Amino acid sequence: MPPKKRKGTSKKASRFPLFRALALAAVVLLTGLTLFLILRLPTRQANEAAAPPVAVKQSVAPRPSTTPTVPEQPSQPSVPLDTAQNPQSVEQQTPPHPLTYEAVADDFEARVRDADLAILNALNSSRQSDSVLRHRAVEARQYRGQEFHYQNLTLHLQDAFPFLAALERNLKQMLPDASLQTLDGNPRDLEISIQGQPTHHLFIPLASTPPKPDTSSTKARVVIIIDDLGESTKTAQRLANLPFPVSFSVLPFTTNAREVAGIARKNNLELLLHLPCEPQSYPKTNSGPGTLRVAMSPAELERTLAANLARLPEVDGVNNHMGSKLTQDKKAMRTVLAHLKGRGKFFVDSLTTPKSCVASVSASLGMDYRRRHVFLDNTAQKQAILLQLKKAEALARKTGLAVAIGHPHPATLAALEAWAATRDTKITICKAQDI
Ligand SMILES: [Zn+2]
Repeated sequence: MPPKKRKGTSKKASRFPLFRALALAAVVLLTGLTLFLILRLPTRQANEAAAPPVAVKQSVAPRPSTTPTVPEQPSQPSVPLDTAQNPQSVEQQTPPHPLTYEAVADDFEARVRDADLAILNALNSSRQSDSVLRHRAVEARQYRGQEFHYQNLTLHLQDAFPFLAALERNLKQMLPDASLQTLDGNPRDLEISIQGQPTHHLFIPLASTPPKPDTSSTKARVVIIIDDLGESTKTAQRLANLPFPVSFSVLPFTTNAREVAGIARKNNLELLLHLPCEPQSYPKTNSGPGTLRVAMSPAELERTLAANLARLPEVDGVNNHMGSKLTQDKKAMRTVLAHLKGRGKFFVDSLTTPKSCVASVSASLGMDYRRRHVFLDNTAQKQAILLQLKKAEALARKTGLAVAIGHPHPATLAALEAWAATRDTKITICKAQDI
């Protein structure tokens, strides 16, 4: 019956809006909550990804080219991106050692690396690949008693203008005391100076295609030492798997020092003892157990050195872990080096201070002097490390030899693996004992 039906319908209709209103409210609430969560998460991820400036290519949201990012903590490895590229490096997120290199006060080379980053970032933001950048020459120069590497670079750019505009902005933001100037009024021939000291020569040729690499033979050699090993056997294995030999430098009092030394030996790789030596800011900077200290008597120094060597007696040689204070002390270094000479071990000066006396003490003892030329990963970002490797190659081409020291950071491993495919294969990678 129509009236009954109408009655029923009207009853239903009177309940229905209430139900619909409640349902609608629930849907709105849920959607709001979901949207809130979705919006928050990518913002955080995008911020994290944007932190390492040279890795911007792979971040979700492209960074506007007008705002070059200054790295907040240049010494921090870009863990999220590297682990994304290489899942097995997850366990390396925690560095095996609290501090892997000593920060030098007023480190001029660090400012040079900042200018390197300004160049890499400008290439990124003007959508140019890093491969357009070639080292014509690299040479060691001095500025206020510190060594730095002057780089002569060629950039084969499609369009120089956006790159130069970005570079100028980056330098202004990252290095306010740097300047970018043309040489002899040639807009394609430029020089970067920091505190008035020329550090980079940039040449932008008219032809944008890079020339074919020089195929002439060379006697240039590079040594790659990876310090601070002894915690992760996975990292050690990954280093041993590289298609070129790296020298393992193992901290004697680490958890897996013996296993890591075994991996080096099994793979016919050079093995060094990474000798803990007192840094300037000891004990604030902790150089770890077994540290040789300036205040020790010659007998104590020899005892401590012998205890370190007893952990890894089979090493080919030794290099210093930290040691900016100890390696300045002639008396202590004479005791240390004479003991090593007696044991038939060579010493590589990691050169953690420009005031190191290892060269003169070695000469007085009739020992060969070996030293580090390039630190690979004080700026622990893959692209910056690749640039350091190119610097080492260019330095080796110029002088015949470059000794590079790196650390087991995920970014360093990723850079070495990438370098394997692009490196100058005319340069021999050799052991420190062969130089
Ligand atoms: Zn070290």
